[in-house]
Amino acid sequence: GVKALDFDKYIRVIDDFPKPGISFKDITTLLKDGEAYRAAVDAIVEQVRESQPDLIVGPEARGFLLGAPVAYALGIGFVPVRKPGKLPGKTVSETYELEYGSDTLEVHADAIQPGQRIAIVDDLLATGGTISATARLIEKTGAQVAGMSFLIELGFLEGRKKLEGYKVFSLIKY
Ligand code: 5GP
Repeated sequence: GVKALDFDKYIRVIDDFPKPGISFKDITTLLKDGEAYRAAVDAIVEQVRESQPDLIVGPEARGFLLGAPVAYALGIGFVPVRKPGKLPGKTVSETYELEYGSDTLEVHADAIQPGQRIAIVDDLLATGGTISATARLIEKTGAQVAGMSFLIELGFLEGRKKLEGYKVFSLIKY
């Protein structure tokens, strides 16, 4: 098996992507290794299980790659959060600020029921903007965020500060 401490060896760091000065954490090198992918999902599953969620919510696109197998393992549903215009049904949306400009996320209005416990799963926590917007989306539907799990946390960006009051878990920290 793969030991918890070894996960970072499967992450490839690519400098100056997508723009100069950014040190991008590439998770595709972990995903293509069957043993590492399974062990990472299993470790996230154990954390998510503790928050006893009714549903997993994952943001497009890398949140699908981790959130869906976690939902499958727990035998609960998976609800995708997407960029505008991708979901066919009636949606709830939330806009959040980026360094330059803003971005919007959507979820199907009938996908989450008031009172449900939701675990959010994504690949990486950076500034926390994406996950805060995802949490607000969930709360707009009347549901409750039971926890947030990430494969990677960029600790130096202090995204956790934006997530005060939430249970936050990450497997690999930079
Ligand atoms: P935040 O909103 O926390 O600033 O950024 C997190 C979002 O951006 C995540 O959805 C994640 O997929 C993406 N992201 C930002 N930086 C990286 C990175 O270095 N590697 C990967 N894989 N995703 C990143």
